[in-house]
Amino acid sequence: MSDALDSAKPIKKPKRVLPEHFKSYTGVWVFIEHERGHAHPVSWELLGKGRQLADSLGVTLAGVILGGTDDGVRALTDEAIAYGADRCYLMQSEVLADYRNQPYTAGMTTLVNTYQPEVLLLGATTQGRDLAGSVATTLLTGLTADCTGLEIDMSDRSLLSSRPTFGGSLMCTIVNLATRPQMATVRPRVMPMPERDATRSGEVVTHALDLTEDSVVTKLVDFIPDARADKPQLAFADFIVSGGRGLGKPENFDKVFDLAKVLGAEVGASRPAVHAGWVDPERQVGQSGKTVRPKFYLAAGISGAVQHRVGMEGADVIAAINLDAKAPIFDVANYALVGNALELLPALRDAFERRLAAARARRAAAPATADTGEHA
Ligand SMILES: Cc1cc2nc3c(=O)[nH]c(=O)nc-3n(C[C@H](O)[C@H](O)[C@H](O)COP(=O)(O)OP(=O)(O)OC[C@H]3O[C@@H](n4cnc5c(N)ncnc54)[C@H](O)[C@@H]3O)c2cc1C
Repeated sequence: MSDALDSAKPIKKPKRVLPEHFKSYTGVWVFIEHERGHAHPVSWELLGKGRQLADSLGVTLAGVILGGTDDGVRALTDEAIAYGADRCYLMQSEVLADYRNQPYTAGMTTLVNTYQPEVLLLGATTQGRDLAGSVATTLLTGLTADCTGLEIDMSDRSLLSSRPTFGGSLMCTIVNLATRPQMATVRPRVMPMPERDATRSGEVVTHALDLTEDSVVTKLVDFIPDARADKPQLAFADFIVSGGRGLGKPENFDKVFDLAKVLGAEVGASRPAVHAGWVDPERQVGQSGKTVRPKFYLAAGISGAVQHRVGMEGADVIAAINLDAKAPIFDVANYALVGNALELLPALRDAFERRLAAARARRAAAPATADTGEHA
C-alpha cells in the first residue's frame, strides 16, 4: 500500500451538496504535536503530505501550534515553516502548557471556527487520536482515523481518505460530503518525511485562548517523562531485521538479534512471534503493531500476510528469507532469499561482519577519505 491512492478510481458518491456556509472554508491544516516544545516527527510527515494536498487545491498549508508560553513552543513555528507550512496559527497559554483534552479541544475548535480550514490532519498518536475525536465531535464534522492514503478529488475538492478495513483484507475510501473541516489522522511513518528547508519563510498568526485554569476540569499533578525512550524505537529505525513464526522457537530469535546487532538494526517481529511471547510487544510490525519506514527491512520466516505488510511495505529496500518460494512476502521484496532462515541468518551475520570490518579497516587506513561509500 502506498501513501497515495494509486488505484484512485472514480468513486461513486451519493449526491450530498455541501451546505453554503461551508463553501468559504479553505486551506489545509496540520496539528503540530509536541511535548514541552519537542515536536513529534509525525507532524513534519503530515506537513509533507499536507503540502501536496494544499498544492492540489491551490490553497495555503498551515501548521497549528498550541502550547505553553515558553519560547520553545514559539520556535516550532520556524520548524513548521521549514517543513513546508506557509503559515502557522500559534496559540499560547498557561492552560495549554501540557496536553489536556479540554483546553486543547477548546483551542483547536476556536481556531477552526475563526479561520475555517477545509482539511485538518493530525497524527494517529495517543495525543492526536484523543484530540481528533473530541474536536470532530465538538465541531460535528467527519473524521477518518488511521489513514494510509490521502488525495484530493478535484471534481468537488473533497478529501479522499483511504484506510484498511475488515481486518486489513479490504481498502476503503471515506469522503466527508457535507461538513467541514474534513478531518483525518495518520499513523507515524505512514507518510515520508519531507526535506527540511531552513530558507523558507512564512506568516505567524497568534490567537489568544479565552479559557482560565479554574474552568479546566483536569489538573496536572505530575509530569513523568516518557519511559519508552530506552525501548525499541522501531518506527524511526533505518534498519530493521524482523522474525516470524517460521523461526520455530524463541531461542532461534537470537539469530535475528545477532544479525541486527552487526547491522546496527532494530529487531521487529510478526504478531505470532509476539503472541508466543518470543519478543516484546513493542516490536510487533503491522496493522495492530508499528508502521515502519526504514531504509532496509529484512523479514525472516514471515509469510507476508497483508496485516504484516501494511506495517512495513513503505521500506526503501525489502529482503525476505523464506523456505517457500511462493510466500506472499516475496511479492513486496526487492531481494528474495529462498532457504532456511536458521542457516541464512547466521550466514548473513558472518558475511556482514567480515565486510563491515574490512570497510572499517580501509577507513582507518585512509583517514582523509571521509566516506568510502560502504554502509551496512
Ligand atoms: C485484525 C488482525 C490484525 C493483525 N495484525 C498483525 C500485525 O500487526 N502484524 C502481523 O505480523 N500480523 C498481524 N496479524 C496476523 C496476520 O494475519 C498473520 O497471521 C501473521 O502476520 C503471520 O505471521 P508469520 O508470517 O510470522 O507466520 P506464518 O504466516 O505462519 O508464516 C511463517 C512463514 O515462515 C516460513 N518458514 C517456516 N520455517 C522457515 C524457516 N526455517 N526458514 C525460513 N522460512 C520459514 C513459512 O514458509 C511461512 O511463510 C493480524 C491479523 C488480524 C486478523
